[in-house]
Amino acid sequence: MSGRKSRMSVKLGPVWLWLSLLLAVLSGRADAAEPSARGELKRVLILHSFGREFRPWSEYARSIKAGLEQRSPWPLDIQEHTLLSARFNNPGPEAPFVEYLHSLYEGAPPDIVLSIGAPAARFAQRYRAKLFPDTPMVLAVVEERLVDRLELTDNDAVVSARLDFMAVFESILHVLPDTKTAAIVIGASPLEKFWTDQLKQDLKPLGNRLELVWYSDLPFEAILKRAAGLPPHAVLFWGQMSVDAAGIVHEGDLALRSLRAVANAPIFSYQDPFFGGSTVGGPMQLTAEISRTTVDAVIRVLGGEKPSAIRYEPIQFGRPKYDWRELQRWGISESSLPPDSEILFREPTVWERYRWQMLLIAAIILVQGGLISGLLHERHRRRGAEIESRQRLAELAHANRYSAVGELTTSIAHELNQPLGSILTNTETAELMLQGNSPDIDEIRLILADIRRDDQRASEVIRRLRSVLKKTPFEIKDIELNDTVREAVGLARAVADGRRITLTYTPVLIDLHVKGDPIQLQQVVLNLIINAMDAISDANTGKREVRVWTARAAREAEVNVVDTGPGVTAPDLANVFDPFFTTKPQGMGMGLAIAKTIVEAHQGTIGATNQPAGGARFTIRLPLLR
Ligand code: ADP
Repeated sequence: MSGRKSRMSVKLGPVWLWLSLLLAVLSGRADAAEPSARGELKRVLILHSFGREFRPWSEYARSIKAGLEQRSPWPLDIQEHTLLSARFNNPGPEAPFVEYLHSLYEGAPPDIVLSIGAPAARFAQRYRAKLFPDTPMVLAVVEERLVDRLELTDNDAVVSARLDFMAVFESILHVLPDTKTAAIVIGASPLEKFWTDQLKQDLKPLGNRLELVWYSDLPFEAILKRAAGLPPHAVLFWGQMSVDAAGIVHEGDLALRSLRAVANAPIFSYQDPFFGGSTVGGPMQLTAEISRTTVDAVIRVLGGEKPSAIRYEPIQFGRPKYDWRELQRWGISESSLPPDSEILFREPTVWERYRWQMLLIAAIILVQGGLISGLLHERHRRRGAEIESRQRLAELAHANRYSAVGELTTSIAHELNQPLGSILTNTETAELMLQGNSPDIDEIRLILADIRRDDQRASEVIRRLRSVLKKTPFEIKDIELNDTVREAVGLARAVADGRRITLTYTPVLIDLHVKGDPIQLQQVVLNLIINAMDAISDANTGKREVRVWTARAAREAEVNVVDTGPGVTAPDLANVFDPFFTTKPQGMGMGLAIAKTIVEAHQGTIGATNQPAGGARFTIRLPLLR
């Protein structure tokens, strides 16, 4: 038998192949030879319970649709219908709505019916025989207690949840152990009434621990008033509020937000879609988990699995979630939360919010601090170096003074000899007079006065010398420059006399207060005068004159020393202040270099020019104190 059959098929094979190809072309289905599940449009009918915008179902539906679109291997045509009758306690006849659906889907039933919420599940089960006798169904977002198991067929899959109200209340008491009153907000639609009864049942064990206040018979306006005046240690429990006792419908989350705005107690809920802005938190039904399981069921059914074989455990509450902002608002400490809680919506601390800016500022402060301490260190070092260089300058200047005074030695000796000589002569004369019989006392008195004057002259010379040769540290004080210059001129006067040079000094008629070291400044002036005198050679038979004068400019004191010598040659003008620059056979070339250093240490300037009438002119400028 089998042998004959196989021979037949071998013979007929090509004929069948051609025939089926022809059919495929005629029916316009090029892929009919190799049918594939991919690319086939699937029509999904979603039945909503109250309306598209009723929480929590709206959020579950949104999440389920997003999940379907993301995970479905087929293109989907999602059609949604809302079962308005769930809102009413005494709904009118459902027949017209059923008829409407019937006319829509009679010829072309959807590939799957997905009901969201218990009323939609109930409706779908009730009318499936008429509307979609062979269409598989997924009954989603329905509490275990509301699944009508008796009505389930082989063509139905259920994604149910289990609400554990005791767990919610226990967690409230864990977080706020002093709670004495719990006001329960639930609407008045048939479904909501059912839940009020269930809650009363479930919460019986709390009877003596907590006073339960039921708001289900109140219009929402009245509920708001009550919630604003709750006694201390009260909480609000938000079940749901689709339709209130006055028959007013509450879509979206406006009702919950209004309640939060007026309530004087924290609000707790067990639904994820109400979390994030109004409720404190706790264990709750998680949208993500419910929608993930529902999407899974829908895809399996669409993929051809037998619906009754697709079974899930009822979905339990997820781990407790809390809203950080509400915890802050009601002064609930994080330590009082159950150990596995998750805290969301934590507001970033100033540090978290401005981390980069703060790090940047800190870095800038650190760098700046580093720079400042570096600069301070540098300044300290510079100060040290300045002090040391001043000391060296003082020593150098002292040595230079010795050499300057050395040049004055002959004339100083001459200047001392003169008074000492006349003291001797006057003393001898007085002795002779005293040997006489009647010495002239008045004459002797005059002689003694002369002796005293000569002695004072000699001591003055010695005082000046000592003062200029004194080895003193660089010491800045408030000085009067006219006097300082006068001392220096006085020291040089004898030399000038010896060299037949007229040395004149003309101080300005007002005081010149500067800050400086008088000995050092005297040395500078003395050096300039000696140089000026050196410039007037013995062979110079013309005018032999050195003139010194002081002057006052806007903010500076000026000392000028001019001579009638040949002046400084043009190329040398640039070099005279350089160390070791000299044109003199025995010169050291240090006088002007030291003078420049001293003047600059006094924040002043020194310069050399030639006078139009001949001769050099050296000018020192020092800042005036006042
Ligand atoms: P020194 O006197 O040992 O040469 P200085 O530094 O005092 O060292 O002077 C440097 C040089 O400047 C002198 O050798 C001289 O050539 C020139 N000089 C200084 N003062 C005068 C002046 N009044 N007239 C002409 N040349 C001068």
